Amino acid sequence: MPLDAEDMIDQGLVAPERIDEIRRVARQYSVAMTKDMTGLIDTADPNDPIAAQFVPNGTELVTTAEELADPIGDDRWSPVPGIVHRYPDRLLLKPTLLCPVYCRFCFRREAVGKTPAMLQPEALARAYDYIRQRPEIWEVIVTGGDPFILGARRLADIVQTLDAIPHLGVIRFHTRVPIVDPARVTAWLVAALSAEKALWVVVHANHPRELTTAAKEAVARLVRAGIPVLSQTVLLRGINDDTAVLETLFRGLVAMRVKPYYLHHADLARGTAHFRIGIASGQRLVAGLRGGVSGLCQPTYVLDIPGGYGKVPIAPNAIRADEHVDGWIVKDSTGVEHAYPPDPNS
Ligand SMILES: *Cc1c(COP(=O)(O)O)cnc(C)c1O
Ligand code: SF4
Repeated sequence: MPLDAEDMIDQGLVAPERIDEIRRVARQYSVAMTKDMTGLIDTADPNDPIAAQFVPNGTELVTTAEELADPIGDDRWSPVPGIVHRYPDRLLLKPTLLCPVYCRFCFRREAVGKTPAMLQPEALARAYDYIRQRPEIWEVIVTGGDPFILGARRLADIVQTLDAIPHLGVIRFHTRVPIVDPARVTAWLVAALSAEKALWVVVHANHPRELTTAAKEAVARLVRAGIPVLSQTVLLRGINDDTAVLETLFRGLVAMRVKPYYLHHADLARGTAHFRIGIASGQRLVAGLRGGVSGLCQPTYVLDIPGGYGKVPIAPNAIRADEHVDGWIVKDSTGVEHAYPPDPNS
C-alpha cells in the first residue's frame, strides 16, 4: 500500500506546524508515495529532493495568474474519452488516471487519481475504434496516470489490441513505475508487453537518488526483454536545477541502458510555482552539460506550449545568421564563436 497524506504525517515526514495546510492540499490534489521512495528520504534534510517531489507543501494552495487547470491543453485535443490527439501521426491513450505516486508538480494534477480512475470498457472500445479508423496514426502512447499500475492481464489486453491494428508502427508506454515502484515490474508484466510491433518504454526520473538497485533491476528486466527504454525528466527548482545533479542523473540512466529523451521545462500547473525555474536558467544548465558530458547523456530540453500548441525544443541556439556577411556564426561548447560559410545557392 502506498502512503497517503495521513501516513506521511504519522511517519513524521511533515513538520507539525504544516499538518493543517497539508490536509488542505490533500483535499484538492491526489497524494501518494511508495515505500521505495519514503525509504530514500533523509528526514534531517528540510530540502530533501525526494520528499519535495511527493510530500505535499502548503505552497500548492497558491495559484499564480499564469497557471492553468489544463496547462498543456489535453482537453482541447481530446476527441473521445481516454484519447488526446494533438499531432497527426500519434496520440495518447489513457486507460487509467491512477499513479503509484503523485508528483507535486504533475502537469495533469487536476486529473490524476480522480474518479472514475479507470477508462470504462465501452470508452476503451470507442478509443480503439478511433485509432482503427485513422490510418495516419503511426504511434500510440499509452499513458495516464501510469499504465504500469494495471494488472498484467489488462496490460496484455491493451498491447494485443494495439498490436493487431495494422497501420500502427510503434506502441509507446510512459511510466514512472520502474523507478518509484520497481517490484511491480514482474515477469508477468514484462511478458504482457511482448508484441510484434516495436514497443518502447519511457520512464520518468528526476533525481539520481531515484536510480536505486531495485529500479536498475526493474529496468534491466525490460531491456533484457528487448524493449528500448528512454527517460524523461522534469526540471525542478531545488531538486535537479544543478548541472552536477543532472549530469549524475543522465550518466546513471545511460549506464542503465536508458537514453535520456526529454528534459521538460516544468508546466504551468496550478500550485506549482515553487518548482519552476526561469527558461534562461534552464538554458544555462543545459549548456553546462554540452561538451563535457557524453552526447548520450543529453536529452532535448523542451517546453510544452501552454494552451495545447505542442512541445518545442528550447535549448540555447548555438548558431545564428551573421549580420555582416552572408554566413553563420556558431558557438562551441566553451562559448567561443566561429564563422561558418554561407549556404550554397542561396
Ligand atoms: C508529449 C505528447 C506526445 C508525444 O510527443 P513526442 O514528441 O513524440 O514524444 C504526443 N501527444 C501529446 C498530446 C503529447 O502531449
Ligand atoms: S507519475 Fe506522471 S502522471 Fe503520475 S503524478 Fe507523477 S508526473 Fe503526474
